[in-house]
Amino acid sequence: MCRRQVCRRQVCRRQVCRRQVCRRQGRQVAPGSQRRLARPAHGAGSHCGLAAGLAAAGRIGWVTAPASALDPAIARQLKRDGAGLFPAVAQQYDTGEVLMVGWMDDEALHRTLTTGRATYWSRSRSEYWVKGDTSGHVQWVRSVALDCDGDTVLVRVDQVGVACHTGERTCFAGRELPVEAGPAAAAPAAAAAASAGDRDSVTASTRGAGR
Ligand SMILES: [Zn+2]
Repeated sequence: MCRRQVCRRQVCRRQVCRRQVCRRQGRQVAPGSQRRLARPAHGAGSHCGLAAGLAAAGRIGWVTAPASALDPAIARQLKRDGAGLFPAVAQQYDTGEVLMVGWMDDEALHRTLTTGRATYWSRSRSEYWVKGDTSGHVQWVRSVALDCDGDTVLVRVDQVGVACHTGERTCFAGRELPVEAGPAAAAPAAAAAASAGDRDSVTASTRGAGR
Protein backbone atom coordinates (compact mmCIF):
# COMPACT_ATOMS: atom_id res chain seq x y z
CA MET A 1 0.00 0.00 0.00
CA CYS A 2 0.99 3.54 -0.55
CA ARG A 3 1.90 5.07 2.77
CA ARG A 4 1.51 8.75 3.09
CA GLN A 5 5.06 9.79 3.92
CA VAL A 6 6.66 7.40 1.51
CA CYS A 7 4.31 8.46 -1.19
CA ARG A 8 4.71 12.18 -0.77
CA ARG A 9 8.45 12.21 -0.40
CA GLN A 10 9.70 9.43 -2.58
CA VAL A 11 7.28 7.50 -4.64
CA CYS A 12 5.26 10.22 -6.27
CA ARG A 13 8.17 12.45 -7.11
CA ARG A 14 9.66 9.60 -9.04
CA GLN A 15 6.22 9.05 -10.53
CA VAL A 16 6.48 5.35 -10.09
CA CYS A 17 3.59 5.38 -7.69
CA ARG A 18 1.03 5.03 -10.41
CA ARG A 19 2.65 1.96 -11.85
CA GLN A 20 3.70 0.21 -8.71
CA VAL A 21 1.15 1.18 -6.14
CA CYS A 22 -1.93 2.61 -7.61
CA ARG A 23 -2.45 0.12 -10.35
CA ARG A 24 -2.23 -2.51 -7.72
CA GLN A 25 -5.00 -0.71 -5.89
CA GLY A 26 -6.87 -0.35 -9.13
CA ARG A 27 -6.98 -4.08 -9.55
CA GLN A 28 -8.73 -4.29 -6.22
CA VAL A 29 -11.67 -2.39 -7.60
CA ALA A 30 -14.61 -4.64 -8.05
CA PRO A 31 -15.73 -5.43 -11.58
CA GLY A 32 -18.57 -3.24 -12.62
CA SER A 33 -17.24 -0.18 -10.85
CA GLN A 34 -14.74 0.74 -13.52
CA ARG A 35 -15.93 4.29 -13.75
CA ARG A 36 -13.20 6.78 -14.47
CA LEU A 37 -13.68 9.43 -11.85
CA ALA A 38 -11.98 12.73 -11.47
CA ARG A 39 -9.68 11.40 -8.83
CA PRO A 40 -5.94 11.14 -8.75
CA ALA A 41 -3.97 7.98 -9.07
CA HIS A 42 -4.24 7.14 -5.43
CA GLY A 43 -6.35 5.18 -3.07
CA ALA A 44 -9.23 6.18 -0.89
CA GLY A 45 -9.17 9.83 -0.04
CA SER A 46 -6.47 10.86 -2.49
CA HIS A 47 -4.02 11.48 0.29
CA CYS A 48 -1.22 12.73 -1.88
CA GLY A 49 -1.57 16.39 -2.73
CA LEU A 50 1.35 16.19 -5.12
CA ALA A 51 -0.24 13.42 -7.08
CA ALA A 52 -3.50 15.34 -7.14
CA GLY A 53 -1.73 18.38 -8.51
CA LEU A 54 0.08 16.35 -11.13
CA ALA A 55 -3.13 14.68 -12.10
CA ALA A 56 -4.94 18.00 -12.36
CA ALA A 57 -2.13 19.24 -14.58
CA GLY A 58 -2.48 16.21 -16.79
CA ARG A 59 0.99 14.93 -15.97
CA ILE A 60 -0.31 11.67 -14.66
CA GLY A 61 -3.50 10.01 -15.69
CA TRP A 62 -6.63 9.29 -13.79
CA VAL A 63 -7.07 5.75 -12.72
CA THR A 64 -10.14 4.00 -11.53
CA ALA A 65 -11.15 5.18 -8.10
CA PRO A 66 -11.48 2.64 -5.34
CA ALA A 67 -15.08 1.68 -5.01
CA SER A 68 -17.06 3.76 -2.56
CA ALA A 69 -20.31 2.42 -1.23
CA LEU A 70 -21.95 5.70 -2.22
CA ASP A 71 -25.10 5.12 -4.23
CA PRO A 72 -24.02 5.30 -7.91
CA ALA A 73 -27.10 7.39 -8.67
CA ILE A 74 -25.75 10.01 -6.28
CA ALA A 75 -22.15 9.61 -7.40
CA ARG A 76 -23.17 10.30 -10.99
CA GLN A 77 -24.46 13.73 -9.98
CA LEU A 78 -21.26 14.83 -8.24
CA LYS A 79 -18.67 17.11 -9.72
CA ARG A 80 -15.34 16.79 -7.96
CA ASP A 81 -12.17 18.83 -8.06
CA GLY A 82 -8.85 17.43 -9.23
CA ALA A 83 -8.37 15.71 -5.90
CA GLY A 84 -11.79 14.07 -6.04
CA LEU A 85 -13.20 16.44 -3.44
CA PHE A 86 -16.12 18.83 -3.21
CA PRO A 87 -17.02 21.40 -0.54
CA ALA A 88 -19.64 20.66 2.06
CA VAL A 89 -21.38 23.54 3.80
CA ALA A 90 -22.67 22.70 7.27
CA GLN A 91 -25.73 24.59 8.42
CA GLN A 92 -27.63 24.45 11.70
CA TYR A 93 -30.90 22.90 10.61
CA ASP A 94 -33.26 25.04 12.68
CA THR A 95 -31.61 28.46 13.02
CA GLY A 96 -30.03 28.58 9.57
CA GLU A 97 -26.60 29.40 10.98
CA VAL A 98 -23.85 28.69 8.48
CA LEU A 99 -21.53 26.73 10.73
CA MET A 100 -18.49 25.75 8.71
CA VAL A 101 -17.25 24.47 5.37
CA GLY A 102 -15.44 21.18 4.99
CA TRP A 103 -14.41 18.86 2.18
CA MET A 104 -15.84 15.51 1.22
CA ASP A 105 -15.14 12.78 -1.25
CA ASP A 106 -17.61 10.09 -2.26
CA GLU A 107 -16.86 7.97 0.76
CA ALA A 108 -17.19 10.86 3.21
CA LEU A 109 -20.57 11.68 1.69
CA HIS A 110 -21.58 8.04 1.93
CA ARG A 111 -20.65 7.94 5.60
CA THR A 112 -22.46 11.23 6.22
CA LEU A 113 -25.60 9.81 4.63
CA THR A 114 -25.48 6.47 6.40
CA THR A 115 -24.05 7.06 9.88
CA GLY A 116 -25.96 10.16 10.95
CA ARG A 117 -22.66 11.90 11.70
CA ALA A 118 -21.17 14.56 9.43
CA THR A 119 -17.94 13.13 8.08
CA TYR A 120 -15.36 15.09 6.13
CA TRP A 121 -12.03 14.58 4.42
CA SER A 122 -9.23 16.48 6.13
CA ARG A 123 -6.93 17.89 3.49
CA SER A 124 -4.30 18.78 6.09
CA ARG A 125 -4.27 15.41 7.82
CA SER A 126 -5.23 13.38 4.78
CA GLU A 127 -7.78 11.31 6.60
CA TYR A 128 -11.50 11.03 7.19
CA TRP A 129 -12.72 13.18 9.99
CA VAL A 130 -15.93 12.52 11.89
CA LYS A 131 -16.89 15.89 13.29
CA GLY A 132 -16.92 15.74 17.07
CA ASP A 133 -14.91 12.56 17.51
CA THR A 134 -12.16 14.41 19.34
CA SER A 135 -13.91 17.62 20.39
CA GLY A 136 -17.29 16.20 21.31
CA HIS A 137 -18.84 18.83 19.07
CA VAL A 138 -20.82 16.34 17.08
CA GLN A 139 -22.88 17.23 14.04
CA TRP A 140 -26.01 15.09 13.85
CA VAL A 141 -27.14 14.98 10.26
CA ARG A 142 -30.70 16.11 9.60
CA SER A 143 -30.65 16.41 5.80
CA VAL A 144 -28.24 16.56 2.91
CA ALA A 145 -28.74 18.37 -0.39
CA LEU A 146 -26.70 18.69 -3.54
CA ASP A 147 -26.55 22.10 -5.16
CA CYS A 148 -27.77 22.83 -8.68
CA ASP A 149 -24.34 22.22 -10.23
CA GLY A 150 -23.57 19.10 -8.25
CA ASP A 151 -20.33 20.56 -6.98
CA THR A 152 -21.30 21.49 -3.43
CA VAL A 153 -23.17 19.69 -0.69
CA LEU A 154 -25.31 21.33 1.95
CA VAL A 155 -25.41 19.35 5.17
CA ARG A 156 -28.07 20.48 7.62
CA VAL A 157 -27.08 19.32 11.05
CA ASP A 158 -27.83 19.69 14.71
CA GLN A 159 -24.53 21.05 16.00
CA VAL A 160 -23.54 20.07 19.51
CA GLY A 161 -21.60 22.91 21.10
CA VAL A 162 -19.50 24.92 18.70
CA ALA A 163 -18.56 24.21 15.11
CA CYS A 164 -15.23 26.02 14.95
CA HIS A 165 -11.98 24.80 16.43
CA THR A 166 -11.42 28.34 17.77
CA GLY A 167 -14.34 27.87 20.14
CA GLU A 168 -16.69 30.09 18.18
CA ARG A 169 -20.12 28.80 17.35
CA THR A 170 -19.46 29.22 13.62
CA CYS A 171 -16.28 29.57 11.56
CA PHE A 172 -17.47 32.96 10.38
CA ALA A 173 -18.33 34.56 13.72
CA GLY A 174 -16.51 37.83 14.31
CA ARG A 175 -14.70 37.63 10.97
CA GLU A 176 -16.65 40.16 8.96
CA LEU A 177 -14.72 41.92 6.22
CA PRO A 178 -15.36 45.56 5.34
CA VAL A 179 -17.97 45.95 2.63
CA GLU A 180 -17.34 49.22 0.84
CA ALA A 181 -20.47 49.62 -1.23
CA GLY A 182 -24.17 49.10 -0.85
CA PRO A 183 -26.39 49.24 2.22
CA ALA A 184 -23.73 47.77 4.51
CA ALA A 185 -21.35 50.62 3.69
CA ALA A 186 -24.04 53.29 3.92
CA ALA A 187 -25.19 52.16 7.33
CA PRO A 188 -22.33 50.33 9.01
CA ALA A 189 -24.04 50.37 12.39
CA ALA A 190 -27.10 48.65 10.99
CA ALA A 191 -24.94 46.14 9.15
CA ALA A 192 -23.01 45.36 12.31
CA ALA A 193 -26.25 44.88 14.21
CA ALA A 194 -27.54 42.55 11.52
CA SER A 195 -24.39 40.45 11.55
CA ALA A 196 -24.42 40.16 15.32
CA GLY A 197 -27.02 37.44 15.13
CA ASP A 198 -26.59 34.58 12.71
CA ARG A 199 -30.32 34.28 12.25
CA ASP A 200 -30.39 37.90 11.11
CA SER A 201 -27.38 37.36 8.87
CA VAL A 202 -29.09 34.52 7.11
CA THR A 203 -32.22 36.58 6.71
CA ALA A 204 -30.18 39.40 5.20
CA SER A 205 -28.39 37.12 2.79
CA THR A 206 -31.61 35.41 1.83
CA ARG A 207 -33.13 38.78 1.07
CA GLY A 208 -30.40 39.41 -1.52
CA ALA A 209 -30.20 35.92 -2.88
CA GLY A 210 -32.48 36.48 -5.83
CA ARG A 211 -30.84 39.65 -7.05
ZN1 LIG B 1 -13.55 27.17 12.07
